[in-house]
Amino acid sequence: MLVHSRDRILPELSEPLARYALERMAARGVTFKLEKRLADARPGVVVLKPAEEIRAWTLVWTAGTAPNPVLETLPIERDKRGAIAVEPTMAVNGRPGLWALGDCAALADAKTGKPCPPTAQFALREARTLATNIVAAARGEAAAPFHFDSLGALCVVGHHTACAELTVPFFRHKTVRFSGLLAWLMWRAIYVGKLPGLERKVRVVIDWVIELFFPRDIVQTIELR
Ligand SMILES: Cc1cc2nc3c(=O)[nH]c(=O)nc-3n(C[C@H](O)[C@H](O)[C@H](O)COP(=O)(O)OP(=O)(O)OC[C@H]3O[C@@H](n4cnc5c(N)ncnc54)[C@H](O)[C@@H]3O)c2cc1C
Repeated sequence: MLVHSRDRILPELSEPLARYALERMAARGVTFKLEKRLADARPGVVVLKPAEEIRAWTLVWTAGTAPNPVLETLPIERDKRGAIAVEPTMAVNGRPGLWALGDCAALADAKTGKPCPPTAQFALREARTLATNIVAAARGEAAAPFHFDSLGALCVVGHHTACAELTVPFFRHKTVRFSGLLAWLMWRAIYVGKLPGLERKVRVVIDWVIELFFPRDIVQTIELR
């Protein structure tokens, strides 16, 4: 049973892809409770708002990420989410020599003015611009404002299916959308490509190939110290 406060799941994706994801999951037995919120959880009961009680012993809460709480201890300007207010160059407002990026920074894109989402896709590009800006600042040169057009979004729906919404290179306002096995293969290829080191890539690929034929291995070796 999946509870979501909005009238649709996956608001980051276009409506047809979100519908595809919902239909795939519904076909596998997932029940959707849309436009409902979690109000309370007691042993054996999950309470929703508007009022509804669900008998359940397992509750998985996936309410998104927040900036690191350590930021609350710093005497710097922060936005509503708790992220550090920065200029488009990632310089912290009113604090020369201090910079912030990634999930901890409330950064607006220099071209669009839209907030940069807290994703690795953006954090990696911000890191490159910031590295250049720090060198520029040390040399007394002007720092560059940050701009990046999102490459798109991939979302796995399970059972070898996924949704893909990708920005077409050189036509930044055009997107291609597709779903199913091809999107899933693309998602896997991109993620394995991003893994650091050949050894890690090989291990993960072997693991994924084994998983195609056998159930997931739930045995884990934990080193106790
Ligand atoms: C479950 C999940 C799935 C995600 N999937 C995607 C995805 O598919 N695509 C995507 O683009 N993004 C995804 N993201 C978001 C992405 O992981 C983050 O946006 C990205 O990692 C932010 O990078 P960052 O460098 O700002 O922070 P982080 O990657 O979180 O790095 C911060 C580092 O600081 C360290 N740290 C924390 N406190 C201290 C301290 N006091 N002193 C020193 N070090 C400290 C942490 O250990 C960590 O290594 C996902 C996030 C989650 C949680």
